[in-house]
Amino acid sequence: MLDFKKGDGLIPVVIQDNQTLEVLMLGYMNEEAWEKTQADGKVTFFSRSKNRLWTKGEESGNFLTMVSSAVDCDNDTLLIKVIPAGPTCHTGSRSCFNTAYNQNFLLQLERIVQQRYVESSEESYVHRLRERGINKIAQKVGEEAVETVIAALAETEHDFINETSDLLFHLIVLLREKGLNLEVIAKKLEGRHQ
Ligand code: AMP
Ligand code: ZN
Ligand code: ZN
Ligand code: ZN
Repeated sequence: MLDFKKGDGLIPVVIQDNQTLEVLMLGYMNEEAWEKTQADGKVTFFSRSKNRLWTKGEESGNFLTMVSSAVDCDNDTLLIKVIPAGPTCHTGSRSCFNTAYNQNFLLQLERIVQQRYVESSEESYVHRLRERGINKIAQKVGEEAVETVIAALAETEHDFINETSDLLFHLIVLLREKGLNLEVIAKKLEGRHQ
């Protein structure tokens, strides 16, 4: 059970992007805000500056749809994974913390690929790959794998990094074509580890 008493009726709530795992913002909830969040699936905070319940996105439309929640070790903090409808920060940034994509960029890239896949834009390389079909995508993965091997054995670090990047990118596209994603692969690897 969440302990609202410790922090004068408010608990801190860490909001994390369900797909990229990026920390998007931190807010506070009282018991009523937490109940409302659970009832309608959209994150509602207690705003200390507004001094009222505040459903994130109520003006901007950038709601945070809750996917899962976890209570910390001593029941006084919440971690909520969300699907954000748009930028979470009122400045227009994805996250209130102005952090670089860094290691999460592979997951960001996966999301971009998934978006481009369904948008029909002739400008988009991903979309054109999709139109050329699975044979072409699989062939590209094969080519980039061979180029990666050659670069590993013969060429500079620069070339090896480039070819590995090509390979990972096309592998993400192939996963999408097969209706899969990096999380499925990570779960498989995690399972083998035990
Ligand atoms: P919104 O909830 O997105 O409709 O935004 C309504 C108002 O809440 C904005 O005008 C800001 O004052 C404030 N606000 C929005 N997003 C944030 C945020 N991530 N952190 C703090 N305040 C916010
Ligand atoms: Zn705690
Ligand atoms: Zn912000
Ligand atoms: Zn290449």
